[in-house]
Amino acid sequence: MHSSVIGKIEKANRYARELDRIKFERMSLTFRGDNDSHRVRLDADGWACTCHTFGTSGDCAHILALQKVLGGMLPESAQQTFVPDAVMPAQDAVTV
Ligand SMILES: [Zn+2]
Repeated sequence: MHSSVIGKIEKANRYARELDRIKFERMSLTFRGDNDSHRVRLDADGWACTCHTFGTSGDCAHILALQKVLGGMLPESAQQTFVPDAVMPAQDAVTV
């Protein structure tokens, strides 16, 4: 394999371990819940989800799950959850 390709792969592997290099500024995705699929969005206004729970309370398990998965890759404001830290351990404390 060409040395420049090897260099790119090595750099990509290092970047993939250094998650603090990545910051999601906005995203749009489909989250398959237990009962239905929902559209989840993150932008300058914060999180939004099309599920009923978010519509009534402004938070939901779909966003909470994304916060757990993406952790420090989210902007500081998007990491704020409605769940205390003691109940919602940091991502690196979670074993999958
Ligand atoms: Zn939701």
